[in-house]
Amino acid sequence: MHTVDDLRKILARIDSRGYKAYKDLQGAYVYPGFTLFIDHVQGDPFATPSKIRVRVPGGIAKFPPDLFSGRVRRVALQDFLIREVHEAIRHVCLGNRGIGKSGLIAIDVGGQEVLERTAMVVTPQWVEARLSLGLPAQGRTILGRQAEAMLCQEVPEIAERAMKWEHVDEERARAFVDCVDNQESIRTQLDTLGLVAFIADGAILPRSSGASDRPLSRERAQPFRAPASLRVSIPILHPVSQDGRLTHSLTGFGIPTGVTVIVGGGYHGKSTVLRALERGVYPHVPEDGREYVVTTEGAVKIRAEDGRSIERVDISGFIENLPYRQETAQFSTDNASGSTSQAASILEAVEVGATTLLLDEDTSATNFMVRDARMQALVHKEHEPITPFVDRVRELYERHGVSTVLVMGGCGDYFDVADKVIAMQDYQPLDVTKEAQRIAREYRTQREIETTSPLSEVGSRIPVWESLDPSRGKREVKIEAKSVDAIAFGHEVIDLSGVEQLVDASQTRAIGYALHLASGRLMDRGLKAMVQGLVELFDDAGLDRLDPYHQGERHPGNFARPRAFEIAAALNRLRTLRIRE
Ligand code: ADP
Ligand code: MG
Repeated sequence: MHTVDDLRKILARIDSRGYKAYKDLQGAYVYPGFTLFIDHVQGDPFATPSKIRVRVPGGIAKFPPDLFSGRVRRVALQDFLIREVHEAIRHVCLGNRGIGKSGLIAIDVGGQEVLERTAMVVTPQWVEARLSLGLPAQGRTILGRQAEAMLCQEVPEIAERAMKWEHVDEERARAFVDCVDNQESIRTQLDTLGLVAFIADGAILPRSSGASDRPLSRERAQPFRAPASLRVSIPILHPVSQDGRLTHSLTGFGIPTGVTVIVGGGYHGKSTVLRALERGVYPHVPEDGREYVVTTEGAVKIRAEDGRSIERVDISGFIENLPYRQETAQFSTDNASGSTSQAASILEAVEVGATTLLLDEDTSATNFMVRDARMQALVHKEHEPITPFVDRVRELYERHGVSTVLVMGGCGDYFDVADKVIAMQDYQPLDVTKEAQRIAREYRTQREIETTSPLSEVGSRIPVWESLDPSRGKREVKIEAKSVDAIAFGHEVIDLSGVEQLVDASQTRAIGYALHLASGRLMDRGLKAMVQGLVELFDDAGLDRLDPYHQGERHPGNFARPRAFEIAAALNRLRTLRIRE
């Protein structure tokens, strides 16, 4: 191990030399109060920034053990500290100092959701932040003095401010960790309570704009209030304030298992509720407004996604008798329609264990959702390949245990199949189930049920792992997350823009590498076993090992944990995917 003085000496020696001389920095340096690891040095000022780790021993960081005991609290504290480091960087780091990424220091910080990330590790032995740092240069010439300011002043200052309990705001840290703990505890109770989701009274669901995930201001947002008939009370682990008083249980809207239809006039807040439920599979930061919107972990958003590829999915329960006798029991296409894509997405989600489907009329194919009496009269069943969702939604629940929450403002045929009908009116939910049932009896739907045979059991497909090829040019593995909704995988680009429950580019990056990892050894027993294998691996070993170039304790790269459903969704959208016959 070197000391910080050694680091200073190296920087003095390489000052004004060519950029490659920065490579001499690689190694570990003991500072007063922490160790700095310089794991990877970038090749030039414009390349991916260098990767460093700052490790503060537990005896110096002194975080109270109860803040990181157990997985949920540890993940929460880590996420909190990432945000603290991010803030400290903004305060401390001078920023741009030369060309390219010179002068930049960054941590992989998340948005409104709290996710397990590799950017921070808290153990009883140490607290470790994994950062990127742009080593400064002018032209191709090393700016040694600037590098010294970054590594010997800014980095220690960041560690001091954000990685030591004595400088962290104790109240905010506790509130953050307890809040996440409460959310996860509500999630574990949903099943026993017979619920698929919970929306606390007082929750703020709308966002400040279509381009922002932050809450709409309190002055403009209508807080959510549960309809009395569906109000439940759920105990929580740590007291919080609701309606101005401190409480050990939260009241709110419990959405029961079964079929729930959300109706209401246009612009009355239907989609906003559904979007909050989609995101509710993840915990949220305090003050998000949705921190007590909690959805069962088996919930999957389903939407139409024309143009996507589909590989050997049995969609015959929804679509049969396509023109020219195209097979639908093992349906494949490079260019799906709205309805075939929606059918495939449902079966793919159920294949890997979805227990609740979330659908919005705004993003659904109309002909997939319903066919009314007049259309049935004009276009006979033998010429219409689609069995609409309205004729399968009850069966999905009763025979397959899959609940549905559906936004449908435009079609009353769903009244016949709904267990609960909720009307959004002026952004408030009303329980209109009885009235909808009465209307369904009075105005009988003239349409006929179009199922001819029961929906078959959903089997697990076995991918041909050679159909996943991550190589490109000379690189054996070239996987890159360009954004939250695209993975460059070898020569392919996986389009994830229709996978709406992916929230973070670091999840997308993790999925790219997870597919590669799984292709070597986890695919032989089928898709479901594959994603389960990955979940177990993440539970046991964390996400650090995802990067194939990761070695020993080195900086693992920036990953956030994806759900099993989104991993499967990415594989299902890889256009080269082949499934065994
Ligand atoms: P719908 O799906 O019923 O047509 P949306 O959910 O898209 O309606 O909401 C319409 C608009 O109302 C959006 O701009 C949304 O942000 C806003 N909105 C939704 N819920 C609330 C609320 N509780 N308070 C204030 N504005 C809201
Ligand atoms: Mg809408």
